[in-house]
Amino acid sequence: MTTTTTTARPTATPPVLDAQALWQKDRDHFIHPFTDFSVFHEQGCDLITDSDGIYVQDAKGNRFIDGIAGLWCVNVGHGRAEIGQAMADQATRMAYFSTFNNLSNAPAAELAAKLAELAPAHLNHVFYSCGGSTANDATVRLVHYYFNRLGKPNKKRILSRNNAYHGTTYLAASLTGIASNNWDFDTLDHLVTHLDEANCYRRPEGMSEAEYCDHLVAELEDTIAEIGADNIAAFIAEPIMGAGGVLVAPAGYHKRMQAVCRAHEILFIADEVVTGFGRLGHFFASEAVFETQPDIINCAKGLSSGYVPLGATLISDELYEVLGTPQRKGGVLSTGFTYSGHPVSCAAALKNIEILERERICENVREVGPYLEQQLKTLSRHETVGDVRGSHFMMCLENVADKATKELLPVEARVGDRVAAEAQRRGLIIRPVGHLNIVSPPLIWTRETVDRVVAILDEAFTATTASLR
Ligand code: PLP
Repeated sequence: MTTTTTTARPTATPPVLDAQALWQKDRDHFIHPFTDFSVFHEQGCDLITDSDGIYVQDAKGNRFIDGIAGLWCVNVGHGRAEIGQAMADQATRMAYFSTFNNLSNAPAAELAAKLAELAPAHLNHVFYSCGGSTANDATVRLVHYYFNRLGKPNKKRILSRNNAYHGTTYLAASLTGIASNNWDFDTLDHLVTHLDEANCYRRPEGMSEAEYCDHLVAELEDTIAEIGADNIAAFIAEPIMGAGGVLVAPAGYHKRMQAVCRAHEILFIADEVVTGFGRLGHFFASEAVFETQPDIINCAKGLSSGYVPLGATLISDELYEVLGTPQRKGGVLSTGFTYSGHPVSCAAALKNIEILERERICENVREVGPYLEQQLKTLSRHETVGDVRGSHFMMCLENVADKATKELLPVEARVGDRVAAEAQRRGLIIRPVGHLNIVSPPLIWTRETVDRVVAILDEAFTATTASLR
């Protein structure tokens, strides 16, 4: 991989921002997602104004290493002028036109063909959406439609997992299994059943990893027996569970889960919104890492490196044969979005993929990823670090009160927030999620970046431990 992480910027000087005035507008009018409003108004917010390579900068001029790739998405790194240029070129030539009926545009067609080339061999058809939630939402509708068309209208239930994260549209939020995400919200419970997540760190006492895998597969079999395969449409899973705690399943888990699903005509959906586009060292992890052949793969985030919203559902030839056949005279596939196959988004994604390939970024992840894992694991010498887990550029540190019992610190200790704040003070942004700290960087980190990051985290954990005494 080339080590250059920045490209020439457009020449215009960016306008000077009035941070105070912006904060007032923000506080009074912007409803932030996933935000604790009990502290938001007092704490204020960090205004991120600039970004470049592996760095972001705030309105006060503080520069930080981005340890979360924006939100698991800026895979090629920040400030790629060539993506901006590709978007500008498309926007000035033809910014938008419908893709309904027989209309299309060049970037949408090119990108669909490119995705078919990159995906496992049988996934050759692309349904575009606007992000991860809409990709998952659209997928469930398509799966239901598919079984209706096959004359199996009872196959409706989707099997998901506790602690899964699949988004926040109504249906995606219902697939999501992180209980606190749905506090005081409603969910479509008649459509979804949650199985246990695969959490090797907190697996039942005395169970080996292999026995734990047997246990989880048996739970799937029991659930199918209970609900009836005739009532179950699909199983959806992230290859590595992300927001739920970067949980890596025991060896062979996904393959065995898929085999059970196949035996019962239950579709296997891989939510690769985070794991796709290089985070685990491959464009798609399902086949390359986990040896599964999903019927559907969903992606977003790294698809456009977050430069513009875009999601995609990659569908097998077998499903497409049914979905792509007219169902009745005058009937159409009545689903899609105004922005399905948006030309500017697709142009950005094409350029993003070109960069990933040209700079051999998957190879960088395969080279630097194991080093990141190894170096982060050295932090387990700290008192609160109970587990360091994940794979390649998708990592997590779990804080505990007691390593032997794995007991958690009280919620009020806000340990994840403390560690993240100490890191940020030292020039690194990582993500706190409850008692967890997530590291999911741009895929252009080098070994030198890893060394700097681990040195900062070392100090951050020392300071946090001291502050908890
Ligand atoms: N699926 C997974 C695995 C995710 O991690 C996310 C977001 O973090 C989503 C779906 C939802 O994507 P979006 O926020 O683009 O709707």
